[in-house]
Amino acid sequence: MSAYKNIESALIHGGIYGDEYTKAVNVPIYQTSTYEQSGIGETPKWEYSRTGNPTRAALEALIAELEGGSAGFAFASGMAAITAVLSLFNTGDKIIISSNVYGGTFRVLDKVFNHFGIGYSIEDTTNIAELETKITPEVKAILIESPANPLLTITDIGAVARLAAKHDILSIVDNTFMTPYLQRPLSLGADIVIHSATKYLGGHSDVVAGLVVVNDERLARQIAFIQNSTGGVLGPFDSFLLIRGIKTLGVRLDRHVENAQKAAEFLSSHKAVKKVYYPGLPDAQGYDINKRQAKNGGVMISFELYENYDIKKFFKSLKLVALAESLGGVESLVCHPASMTHASIPYEVRQKVGITDGLIRLSIGIENIDDILLRLSGSAILICRREPSCMRS
Ligand SMILES: *Cc1c(COP(=O)(O)O)cnc(C)c1O
Repeated sequence: MSAYKNIESALIHGGIYGDEYTKAVNVPIYQTSTYEQSGIGETPKWEYSRTGNPTRAALEALIAELEGGSAGFAFASGMAAITAVLSLFNTGDKIIISSNVYGGTFRVLDKVFNHFGIGYSIEDTTNIAELETKITPEVKAILIESPANPLLTITDIGAVARLAAKHDILSIVDNTFMTPYLQRPLSLGADIVIHSATKYLGGHSDVVAGLVVVNDERLARQIAFIQNSTGGVLGPFDSFLLIRGIKTLGVRLDRHVENAQKAAEFLSSHKAVKKVYYPGLPDAQGYDINKRQAKNGGVMISFELYENYDIKKFFKSLKLVALAESLGGVESLVCHPASMTHASIPYEVRQKVGITDGLIRLSIGIENIDDILLRLSGSAILICRREPSCMRS
C-alpha cells in the first residue's frame, strides 16, 4: 500500500523517488542493456535490461503503489501487457470478456490466442446473475472494462471479483479509462489490473506503453516470468516519459472530467444528438454502481447523431477536435468506433453489442471547454442534411 494518504502526493513521490546516487529529483534514464557484474556466481541486482532496468523498475513500483498492488510490470504497449496476462492461460482454457472491450483485446483473443486453443466468449458482464450461468469448467478468467469501450457500459467490479473468487477463477480489469486516480480495482477485489498507459497515464499522446499490477505473490512471479520470457518490455526512455506523465495525472484528470461532464450535458440537450453515453449522467446505465466504485464519470463520452445528420460531414467539418485513434491526451480527439477502434469486430457482433455506424466517441481534452463545445455544435449544424428542423433555434 501507498506510503501516502492521498493519491495526489503518491503520483509525484510514489514508487522510487529520484536517484539514490546523485540525489537528482527525477529518476534518470538508465539507457543501458547490460550491467557489469562483480564476480561469477554472485546474483547481481541488475543483470540485463529485459529482466530489469532501474528506470522501468521505478515506473513499476509507482504503478503498483498507485493501484494498491504488490507488484507492477511495464510493457511496450497495452496490447503487450494484455498478451502477457493472457499468457497465464493454457490450451483448453476459456476467458469471458465484456461485450464491449477494446477491439484489440477481442482481436488478440480471436486471431492469436485462439490458435493456441485458448477460447473466449463475449458476455454481458453487467448482469451478474446471467454471467454466473456462463462460468463453465473451462472458464478460467473474466476480463472486464468499466467503463467499457466505446459505450461506457458499467460493470460492478466488486461483484465480478466476488463471482470469480467463488468459482476460483481470475478477475481481470482493464482500468485504462479510469486510471488509479479515479478507480482502483484491486481494492474492489480484482486479481489483475491492466493499463494501456498510452492513454491517461502518459497523458500527452507521445508514448505507447502498457502496465500490469497484481497483489498476489504467485501471480507476481508468474507475470515476471512471462515478462522476461516473452520480452515485450518498456524501454528506459518511455518509462521515464510515463513517470513524468503520471506526476500530473491528478490535475489533468480534474480538468478532463470537469470538461467531460460539461460536454456530456451539452450534447444531451443538443438537437442533433440522439443519445449520449456518459457514466456521469444520472440516467446513464450503471450510474449508481459507477458512483460507488469510481470517483466520478471519467472522461470518455460516446454519442449518436440522429439519422438525418451526416456523420462523415460531421467529422470533416470538425475543427480543433482531431479525428484520431486513441484517447487520454491533453488534446481533444474524436473517433468513429465502427470504422476505427472497433473495426476488427465483425459487423454482426458490433450491431449486437450496440456499436452502430452512427456512434461517435469523444476523448475530451483539457482545452477551454467553451472552445470545444463551440466546435462540436458548429460542426453538428453544418452537417444537417436536409430538414430545417435540424437548425438550432
Ligand atoms: C488503447 C487501449 C488498449 C491497447 O493499448 P495500446 O497501448 O494501444 O497497445 C487496451 N485497452 C484499452 C481500454 C485501450 O483503450
